[in-house]
Amino acid sequence: MKNLKKLIIITGPSGVGKGTVIKELLVKDRDIWLSVSATTRSPRMGERDGQNYYFISEDKFKDMVDKKEFLEWAQFAGNYYGTPLNKVNEKINEGFDVLLEIEVEGAKQIKEKFPESLSIFLLPPSKEELEKRIRNRGTEKEEAINRRLIRSNYEIASSNIFDFVLTNHNVDETVKEIFKIIKS
Ligand code: 5GP
Repeated sequence: MKNLKKLIIITGPSGVGKGTVIKELLVKDRDIWLSVSATTRSPRMGERDGQNYYFISEDKFKDMVDKKEFLEWAQFAGNYYGTPLNKVNEKINEGFDVLLEIEVEGAKQIKEKFPESLSIFLLPPSKEELEKRIRNRGTEKEEAINRRLIRSNYEIASSNIFDFVLTNHNVDETVKEIFKIIKS
């Protein structure tokens, strides 16, 4: 893989606002390409296969793991998630900055394989605010919300392994900070 400085990892607990921040980054910088992950979780309302995720069965996911078709993969709140290797290679070779929106275990795998990659962790202003954001999003049932909140404690405790930790008080400010980091 050429030019590994172009691999950017964005991680943060469920509900922190990664999706909104990333949408802004993509609108403002056409040289950033967001990797589409594969997952075994069911699509949420409005999510499209091939756009938000590749929604695949557990058998298919395991088959891809066996065939080493993921750059990294992890289990999160009862489902599997992974970054398909092929597209990432292709887009890096085409000169894009490749953005991975992944959880902590996947971020660790990428950092081990590619120490030159840039990792950014987004923190919520507080745990109360995080819970409010997940609930207001209204996409998960109570059990899934609880699993995600429990997991968020572990993720926040792991934030010290990231190159940069930003508190997402406000989308515009966070996007500005990320651009400063990417361009520096
Ligand atoms: P969600 O179900 O809310 O879309 O995603 C749950 C978590 O999985 C989020 O923290 C998200 O960043 C992470 N995630 C999404 N795609 C991948 C992936 O390909 N690999 C890993 N390790 N995590 C992922």
